[in-house]
Amino acid sequence: NGKVALVTGAVRGIGLGISAWLIAEGWQVVLADIDRKRGAKVARALGSSAWFVGMDVAQESQVAMGVAEVLGQFGRLDALVCNAAVADPRNPPLAELKLSHWNQVLGVNLTGPLLLAKHCSAYLQAHRGAMVNIASTRAHQSEPNSEAYAASKGGLLGLTHALAISLGPDVRVNAVSPGWIDARSPSERQQAPLSAQNHVQHPAGRVGSVEDVAALVAWLLSDRAGFVTGQEFIVDGGMTRKMIYLD
Ligand code: NAD
Repeated sequence: NGKVALVTGAVRGIGLGISAWLIAEGWQVVLADIDRKRGAKVARALGSSAWFVGMDVAQESQVAMGVAEVLGQFGRLDALVCNAAVADPRNPPLAELKLSHWNQVLGVNLTGPLLLAKHCSAYLQAHRGAMVNIASTRAHQSEPNSEAYAASKGGLLGLTHALAISLGPDVRVNAVSPGWIDARSPSERQQAPLSAQNHVQHPAGRVGSVEDVAALVAWLLSDRAGFVTGQEFIVDGGMTRKMIYLD
């Protein structure tokens, strides 16, 4: 389709799945990640429609430089997918939780998307583009010892509607909240398959795949979603709709 998408956290897991899906739909995809070594390799493997740019999304100077590189290379930007995160939801128990851990999680998961939006907004507006933030069902429900991650994803939902109002009508901004997605590589999955119980507990009968997330992201970036902005879309196989009574 000749359009350019910037995907953060794109060299593995869900971000890689989104990137591959967009490439298959004809997008030129810029993979942004802090993991520069893997980035170059992954972009090469994805072919001529993939291009890698290294950045720590929590550092404004790196975001500004990375976005400038993208514009220098392609001259346009049509879509932004903020997927990079400290993706491990666990933090130490509250009494031992260091402020540095909290600040790092908030810095990558919440400040990162703000910085990307800030530095991409003029280009997205110029092409009536779209933005998707990858949040989590953990914005709504928790396990013990996940304060920083849950707060970062809850904050991201607020940031999503704030940006939708500030950047509209030219730019649509939505959030996708995955539930349990098995984002491991095929070999990792083969080595340690998930138990049947983990699949069956989902109303949809299985744990999710990166493609489940990617398909929705691609739709939200497309003109078919032209009347959809400021929203959250949950992709969790129905888990957040299920009541559990043990007796
Ligand atoms: P992952 O850890 O496999 O991949 C995250 C990527 O982000 C990595 O490539 C990493 O290098 C990159 N990254 C980390 N910090 C960065 C930084 N400061 N700057 C730039 N890049 C950075 O994670 P995943 O499981 O694929 O998750 C992707 C997204 O989906 C995350 O936002 C995560 O919170 C969300 N999510 C995942 C699940 C799941 O079950 N896997 C569920 C809900 C939400």
